[in-house]
Amino acid sequence: MDVSNKPPTRLRRGLLIVLSSPSGAGKSTISRLLLQADAEVRMSVSATTRPKRPGETDDVDYHFVDDAEFDHMVAANAFVEWAQVFGYRYGTPKAPVKQALKEGRDILFDIDWQGARQLEPDFGEHLVTIFLLPPSMEELERRLRSRATDPEEVIQGRMRRASDEISHWAEYEYVLVNRGMDECLAQVRAIVAAERSKRTRQTGLHGYVTKLIGTPH
Ligand code: 5GP
Repeated sequence: MDVSNKPPTRLRRGLLIVLSSPSGAGKSTISRLLLQADAEVRMSVSATTRPKRPGETDDVDYHFVDDAEFDHMVAANAFVEWAQVFGYRYGTPKAPVKQALKEGRDILFDIDWQGARQLEPDFGEHLVTIFLLPPSMEELERRLRSRATDPEEVIQGRMRRASDEISHWAEYEYVLVNRGMDECLAQVRAIVAAERSKRTRQTGLHGYVTKLIGTPH
């Protein structure tokens, strides 16, 4: 009998769900909706050297760190991946990823193509990579402007880099055009459901089926 208070180990392997897109294509909203809809998915909180924006909370949106602390984390091998994006550094802490995989839980990563690429060698069997495209570049620019949290030169810089980020679309397994939040969320949830159902990810299946066909009927 298990007398510990620890949650039971799940009978499936956890997914590492990477959601990438250019800034403004709806990634944050889709992430938030997925987390609300699915209790098995937790968000990976990255560390970054970028300054906090209005409305952001330390240790919720990011772990906001200075250059020295980021250097220290890199030296301590504390990241599963890290990259330079828009002049700042961003990295995914290793410990929560290891913990989630041990417990058979899923983690959602809002990281760029450089991060997705770095996760592949070590975590390929757990990875589910999804790329979100905007319906058009005009719509992308409209969405970036409606947020109005960044100065003009930052928006222009992001528009230029959006094309760059989009150029990596073919490195992802799933590519969705975000024409509306409801439809896009439904597609992401369908992908997650299908990936969880893969035979190789259901570690309890062998025992289950043995019991199933061994039961007298
Ligand atoms: P923002 O500064 O707008 O929050 O994020 C800028 C970009 O950095 C986004 O494309 C986001 O996906 C990416 N990003 C955020 N955290 C990480 C991370 O830990 N690793 C990598 N490779 N990219 C990240």
